[in-house]
Amino acid sequence: MAVHPATDTIAAIATAPGTGGIGIIRISGPEALPLLHKLFVPRKPRSHFTSHTLYYGTVANRDGQILDEALAVYMQAPHTYTREDVVELHCHGSALVLQAILRTIFEWGGRPAEQGEFTKRAFLAGRIDLTRAEAVLDLLQAQTEVGVRLAANQLQGQLFERLETIRRQLIAILALLEVAIDFPDDDVEIFNTSVMAIQLKTEVIAPLERLIALAEQGKIIREGVTVVIAGRPNVGKSSLLNALLREERALVTPLPGTTRDTIEERIAIHGIPVHLIDTAGIRMHEDPVEALGIERARQKLDEADLVLFLVDAFAGMEDRDRELYHSIQEKNHLVVVNKQDLVTDGQLDALAKEFSRTEIVKISAKEEQGIEELQEAIYRVIVAEKGEISEEMICAPNTRHRAVLAQTLEACRKFEQAMVAGAPVDLLAVEVQSALDYLGDITGLTTPDDVLGAVFSQFCIGK
Ligand code: GDP
Repeated sequence: MAVHPATDTIAAIATAPGTGGIGIIRISGPEALPLLHKLFVPRKPRSHFTSHTLYYGTVANRDGQILDEALAVYMQAPHTYTREDVVELHCHGSALVLQAILRTIFEWGGRPAEQGEFTKRAFLAGRIDLTRAEAVLDLLQAQTEVGVRLAANQLQGQLFERLETIRRQLIAILALLEVAIDFPDDDVEIFNTSVMAIQLKTEVIAPLERLIALAEQGKIIREGVTVVIAGRPNVGKSSLLNALLREERALVTPLPGTTRDTIEERIAIHGIPVHLIDTAGIRMHEDPVEALGIERARQKLDEADLVLFLVDAFAGMEDRDRELYHSIQEKNHLVVVNKQDLVTDGQLDALAKEFSRTEIVKISAKEEQGIEELQEAIYRVIVAEKGEISEEMICAPNTRHRAVLAQTLEACRKFEQAMVAGAPVDLLAVEVQSALDYLGDITGLTTPDDVLGAVFSQFCIGK
């Protein structure tokens, strides 16, 4: 890929917003080192900064007024994140001080970095491919430990390697076709259609299909599942939501968008992000204002991957419960009998008879009994529906990759059909090239030079 070095120098606060122990300002571009000389006064005066070495000193504004004490490091291209010259200033964490230093950098000619621009530069410089650039983003946004591992693996290039293997196969096939185009009258058969068809099937089509299937399964790690808690008022829906949240306290992040009708939270169950919705609004009322809430709650029910149907063990099944159960029983659901602390085993068994064909989980949301068992049951149902979380899923492609993989696969199938139909070689080459172009969109790497290189490395044509 062609490298166009950036001519401008970008800067931004690299640490999280808010006050922390330290705050880091990152500067990248051709002016990074000159900027360091202007901004930073090392304690021992010096005219030269050695690359990848930490210096202690002060940072000053254009008037020479000291803004902060800091540690500074200059990292000479190309051994940096962006492959450009990079400077980092490790300052005290005050947001005001960091802003003042940043302003000074802009006054000296740096410009504010756009979102993701450091990583974009790393990609443009060819240091990382697109899948790895995306992994950086995934890593920052991962919701669970499994999500972090998925992103970290992608960052290490696991997905990239699998794509590369497929790409190399396609290039080898294209190379053969190009030779056949260049030497149409050769007596020697340059390629054998049935051998090529097998190679295509096993080395290209099957791995592509596998990656597409993985993307489908990986969605569950990236995006999670939606679990809706349904039940008539007072069965204990919000108590259950809270009990599940307490169990997962460390992983909980509050989600905006809580409405009067539904309360939404996120938890993780065995690494799967679970989007938990309490449909407080589902009531069997005639009130028109209430009806709006019911409508919204019903939409949530429709989106649910799993419905937890909650029943009050003490009150038993009432008509309203039956009505609601009737409306959800065709969905993927679990019957959860709450308030078991208030009833005897005999009463629980009697209630269980109402649901003879469904798995029942007995809990007490208030006493926090049976919550772990409920989580296990939720996990079992999700896995039964979506498939086991496997080690291989750790390199699952994302939705963007999946779309491009599907296009690549379609091009490969077209090529396969054309080959079987005995289409002319130049037409076949066009199909393979289009498959390669699609694949290149994932990593951002295919160039026609690859094909040329492969032709010459495999055959001594010029002889
Ligand atoms: P919601 O309307 O379905 O969200 O129900 P709430 O969670 O607000 O609970 C209704 C009432 O039932 C509250 O007074 C809770 O304290 C009580 N409750 C909920 N779960 C239990 C339980 O497991 N045992 C007992 N004894 N009371 C419970």
